[in-house]
Amino acid sequence: MGKLDFMKEVIDDLKESGLFNTIRTLGSAQGAWIVVNGKKVLNMCSNNYLGFANNDRLKEAAIKAIKKYGVGPGAVRTIAGTMELHEILERKLAEFKRVEAAIQFQSGFNANLGTIPAIVGKNDVIFSDELNHASIIDGCRLSGAKIVRYNHCDPKDLEAKIVEYKDHQGRKLAITDGVFSMDGDVAPLDKLYEVCNKYDVILMTDDAHGEGVLGESGRGIVDHFGLHGKVDIEIGTLSKAFGIVGGFVAGKKVIIDYLKQKARPFLFSSATTPADVAAAIEAVDILTESGDLVKKLWDNGNYFKSKMKEAGFDTGHSETPITPVIIGDAKLSSQLSAKLFEEDVFAQSIGYPTVPKGKARIRVMISAAHSKEDLDFAIEKFVKVGKELKII
Ligand code: PMP
Repeated sequence: MGKLDFMKEVIDDLKESGLFNTIRTLGSAQGAWIVVNGKKVLNMCSNNYLGFANNDRLKEAAIKAIKKYGVGPGAVRTIAGTMELHEILERKLAEFKRVEAAIQFQSGFNANLGTIPAIVGKNDVIFSDELNHASIIDGCRLSGAKIVRYNHCDPKDLEAKIVEYKDHQGRKLAITDGVFSMDGDVAPLDKLYEVCNKYDVILMTDDAHGEGVLGESGRGIVDHFGLHGKVDIEIGTLSKAFGIVGGFVAGKKVIIDYLKQKARPFLFSSATTPADVAAAIEAVDILTESGDLVKKLWDNGNYFKSKMKEAGFDTGHSETPITPVIIGDAKLSSQLSAKLFEEDVFAQSIGYPTVPKGKARIRVMISAAHSKEDLDFAIEKFVKVGKELKII
């Protein structure tokens, strides 16, 4: 046995069970129609909710920033990597989110990895929704705190778990995704807040899929529930609806001041590039000016979901434009994805460990960039292939 043989075994097992990730390559910018492996297809699986990834205003802002500030930050934020642009973005994000302050990270994943271990450590307890995103799970593990999972979106179970630990000395932190990315359901943040407030537990939400989607003009889940100043920590990403790459935390000034001293990716990984930051500023400006794109996203999501349900597909219990098409068996889900691709629809299959075993699905990501004709095209192809595979 060679020392790396286990890797081949794992890869073979993944292929056997239909869980092997085939990585497809884009030969165009993100958008409704893209070139994948040399073929033009309708894109139903990017997180480009508002079409910002190839928006002219964002591109212009990025080009202008490159001309003035260059392509790289040259350092971590705490040494020499903080440019004026970073501070403008943080101020604008805080205004947009209607909170006191914000800190930017290189990605949403990094925001979680940086924030959680800065707040809790080995003598502390984290209460975590059982379906939280991998970056929250990794942040929790990295912190060394005791991790207590509560039932998905269940404030009563959260309360029961908090009560079990009521005599525990040390800090307590409850964490939930805002919008759960694989099902499109929304955390009952108002109820979770009531529980956390009653027991003085710090509350954190990861709004990666609510940013640019929920709330007034896409201000996110805290705005959606009117909980400004009540949810302690709101993680955001610039990599989905904002169309760029980056993450941030929004909240009270004391939390942001603290994270600027303690969050390790902020201290030890280089700052985000000028182009990304300038494009993010432009995205915030566009959303501040108008909620039209957010409205279009929701109209598109509601239309697609209702037509797919009518056709007999199981679209789960999504409350957002994310539309899971639940198949169950991972191999069948992969087959559906492959056949859709032959029909010019790019919709990736998602299986374990991203979703629980036996819950494989095509997760359709609707965008404001889709036209009604695009959505009708996708529905027609889903119905055709769904019938061929006897899914509907
Ligand atoms: N949190 C959640 C809930 C996510 O869905 C994702 C992206 N898959 C992230 C964090 C990571 O965000 P980013 O891509 O900006 O690292």
